[in-house]
Amino acid sequence: GATIGILGGGQLGRMLSVAASRLGLKTHIFEPGAHPPAGQVADRVTTADYDDEDALRAFATSVDVITYEFENIPTAALDLLESLRPVRPNREALHFSQDRLVEKTFLEGLGLQVAPFAEVNGASDLAAAMESTGTPAILKTRRLGYDGKGQARIGAAGDARAALDAMNSAPSILEGFVDFTFEVSVIAARGLDGEVVCFDPGQNVHKDGILATTTVPAALSAPQHRQAIEAARKILGALDYVGVMGIEFFVKQDGLIVNEIAPRVHNSGHWTQNGCVIDQFEQHIRAVAGWPLGDGSRHSDVVMENLIGEDMARLPALAADPANALHLYGKADVKPGRKMGHVNRITGPAKG
Ligand code: ATP
Ligand code: MG
Ligand code: MG
Repeated sequence: GATIGILGGGQLGRMLSVAASRLGLKTHIFEPGAHPPAGQVADRVTTADYDDEDALRAFATSVDVITYEFENIPTAALDLLESLRPVRPNREALHFSQDRLVEKTFLEGLGLQVAPFAEVNGASDLAAAMESTGTPAILKTRRLGYDGKGQARIGAAGDARAALDAMNSAPSILEGFVDFTFEVSVIAARGLDGEVVCFDPGQNVHKDGILATTTVPAALSAPQHRQAIEAARKILGALDYVGVMGIEFFVKQDGLIVNEIAPRVHNSGHWTQNGCVIDQFEQHIRAVAGWPLGDGSRHSDVVMENLIGEDMARLPALAADPANALHLYGKADVKPGRKMGHVNRITGPAKG
């Protein structure tokens, strides 16, 4: 069968490999770090840096299609890979999701609502930016932030300078604080033929900037649910996207605000492994391999809980509860803030 090349060997790459294997496909992981979680299940691993052209070339020519589990692939590496094999999702999706300023501008251009934002390149921009977004606000680095890293809250003018210093004056964006009632995300998939399938929105709770739980069904009204799905369709269509995308929203009484998009399988979509017949990982592999998409409708209500750092101490108790489906990533050392696994707790047959 065909071989799927996956850039990145973390837990997402691992679960993509498992899904590919179930479809009779092989996977080849490209990962700079040693002992990647995906390495335990993939058919092949290349351990090399993104500036190693020979390794990139050998990787690309050994696979039929290339996908990725993270959005920060260096441009030069992407140029080389793209010249050798199709990269799905495409480059545009990476372009719009690697940089928060470009991302927000793109989303706004589609007519979607985003938080008020302003570019900040140094201390001299801050006052004007705060004027335009209002306070409280959040200063975020434009690139490379995840799990709430590279962000600082700004309540009053005094915090601003400290926030910028904390980020070493990296090019940033200031976002007005959105007073949302809750957060949801939509995991959407688009096939090579343009078909779009969306999983039901999940309701997300973050703790210390890291996703803690996702619950389905989310407490959205029917119009809010429709708005979330319509926004997702619009984004995937505009990008001529192929694969799975995670789209995060803030929910307010008067509508949904798009927070950010991730051009890949997404932590808030892990519930689909036990809530749907076809989960986000299989859907993504189907899409990038050019297969028809599967049926992503939800058969069960689920609470997904991330197991982060010392949460792993609760493993014996979690394993003793027969309603818990456990997914562990095989990471050897437990570190604070490190995603070690997740548990999908089935709460009943699908309702709502
Ligand atoms: P991820 O790990 O999801 O990629 P990230 O580091 O890219 O996270 P964001 O999604 O931008 O960060 O923010 C993390 C969380 O912080 C959000 O889910 C939300 O709870 C809160 N947050 C971020 N921006 C805002 C905002 N403008 N207003 C209110 N809360 C916000
Ligand atoms: Mg993010
Ligand atoms: Mg986020």
